[in-house]
Amino acid sequence: MLSIIKSCTLIGVEGFITQIETDITSGMPAFITVGLPDASVKEAKDRLSAALKNSGFVFPYKRVTINLAPGDIKKEGTHYDLPMALGILFSSGQLVVEADFSDTIVFGELSLNGEIRAVSGTLPIIIEAKRQGYRRVILPYDNGAEASVVDGIEVIAIKNLCELQQYLYGEKDCVYPSDSPVESTVCYTSDFADVKGQENIKRAMEIAAAGGHNMLMIGPPGSGKTMLARCFPSILPDMTQEESLESTKIYSIAGLLKPDKPLLKQRPFRAPHHTISAVSLTGGGRIPQPGEVSLAHLGVLFLDELPEFQKNALEALRQPIEDKLVTISRVNATITYPSSFMLLAGMNPCPCGHYGDDSNRCRCSEIQIRRYLNRISAPLLDRIDIHTEVPNISYEKLADKKAAESSETIRARVNAARQIQLNRYATLPILMNADLTPRMIETYCRLGEQEELLIKQAFTTLNLSGRAYHRILKLARTIADLDEKRNIEPAHLAEAIQYRRLER
Ligand SMILES: [Zn+2]
Repeated sequence: MLSIIKSCTLIGVEGFITQIETDITSGMPAFITVGLPDASVKEAKDRLSAALKNSGFVFPYKRVTINLAPGDIKKEGTHYDLPMALGILFSSGQLVVEADFSDTIVFGELSLNGEIRAVSGTLPIIIEAKRQGYRRVILPYDNGAEASVVDGIEVIAIKNLCELQQYLYGEKDCVYPSDSPVESTVCYTSDFADVKGQENIKRAMEIAAAGGHNMLMIGPPGSGKTMLARCFPSILPDMTQEESLESTKIYSIAGLLKPDKPLLKQRPFRAPHHTISAVSLTGGGRIPQPGEVSLAHLGVLFLDELPEFQKNALEALRQPIEDKLVTISRVNATITYPSSFMLLAGMNPCPCGHYGDDSNRCRCSEIQIRRYLNRISAPLLDRIDIHTEVPNISYEKLADKKAAESSETIRARVNAARQIQLNRYATLPILMNADLTPRMIETYCRLGEQEELLIKQAFTTLNLSGRAYHRILKLARTIADLDEKRNIEPAHLAEAIQYRRLER
């Protein structure tokens, strides 16, 4: 007898509805899977047979053919265990259910004792199922909270095959409560109120957060670059509901969602170590996984000790920074993951770290310093809008008892400036000033006579490159937005120009 169960797979960050057709006929006992199954799907036979037996069912001693449709999409992972088990139970007549199953999506991994284990990628699957009008989804209990983030689809969360049988026979209600608390509260671990001094850097970070500008901090070890970076998430603009879902999808696919926090409310902050490989940074691998650039999507990628990163890893960053997505080529498909992140980088001014400070400790030769700085290529440096120097903090500042401004106060200004940008770019495919193209800059960063003169002077006296021009205008636009001014004024421009130190 033939049975049809709807299930789902993942293509990149999107869910894709599939169909499991199970047919059992008499003849030589065999288990055949067709429709581009990968090794983990082919291996399912052993899991299925043990799980069925240990749940009080029998694995049919017949010819079992399972077709995974459509045939041109590679079927990966263990999502198909549960729909295949259900298909076998229906086709072999061990479960007889009158109810219509065509509006139901089923997925989940089976363990040998019949328990149903959580799988990754639940959220994108549910979003796609809802979009296509499915009314019900049967999934592992531990994925229930994540699924209930989406309204308008009934979530049946089950723990094992016996429970599934009870549910189907109407003996047990397994509907996951949709009013369960999914509201994760936002809580920041570090606050700028605890950072003494460094007012200039805090200001630069406020601008970076408001306009989404990439930023580089240069300073000696111990000047507090890492501490400042750790505080940075606390001043980032609040996430919209849409952004939350988009970011959560990536964590869902990577299997990094915590059950108690099924929906990300806080912008991600990723800080990989400098020994990271290019693949871990950008994503890929035999079983493709989103890399750090995608996990930082809509948030921050913090690279401390930037020159220590492998050269090919740094070069691999250029494309995701430019295109805001990563494309991974595979044998029979290409996968894209979004990677619209803000880059925050830290580095020492020289190999020993003390160049330019008052201690006179630096013994690095000019060649050593140049070689150190050259590890960051010009094209990468060119994609960083803000360059700042983080000085060593003076004793007077450290001893100062006065509390610094809190992150909450700064975040309020950042949110206001971001809202101005969202309104201004409502009809454009961009969200913030950092995304402005040269053509848009002409429209949105117009300068008056006085401002033209100022930037002209800066170009001649500071010997700025042509590429710096657009960077400065975008920055000045953000500074004007923070100031709640419609037009860019000389003070905004002057501040923007001083963030291009490495240009010289
Ligand atoms: Zn040195």
